[in-house]
Amino acid sequence: MKKLMSYDRYPHGKRKAHMEVEIKCTDCATTICQYDKEGYGPIGKIIFKSILGESEIKDKKELECQKCEKLLGKKVIAFENKEKVEFFKMYPGVIFYKVLQKGRK
Ligand SMILES: [Zn+2]
Repeated sequence: MKKLMSYDRYPHGKRKAHMEVEIKCTDCATTICQYDKEGYGPIGKIIFKSILGESEIKDKKELECQKCEKLLGKKVIAFENKEKVEFFKMYPGVIFYKVLQKGRK
């Protein structure tokens, strides 16, 4: 049986929490994308494979807010265990997130 609640007290031994969030611009609160977030900390990068649904932001080299045009982050391509990982490295303080749902669908 699944536990209904768990606390992240043992960050090294236990699986990290996942939640579905909506990433928003801090200046105008426009939604940038929906995202499968790991853990409870701030979002320092938006990993492409964790973006939920179709999103045209994956085609961009620089991420900017569609509404106020503030620059939010820069695309980075890295390799982890020989696997290509693409993400936006976010500038500090440019986004916040709203939790839509805890856990994975
Ligand atoms: Zn904005």
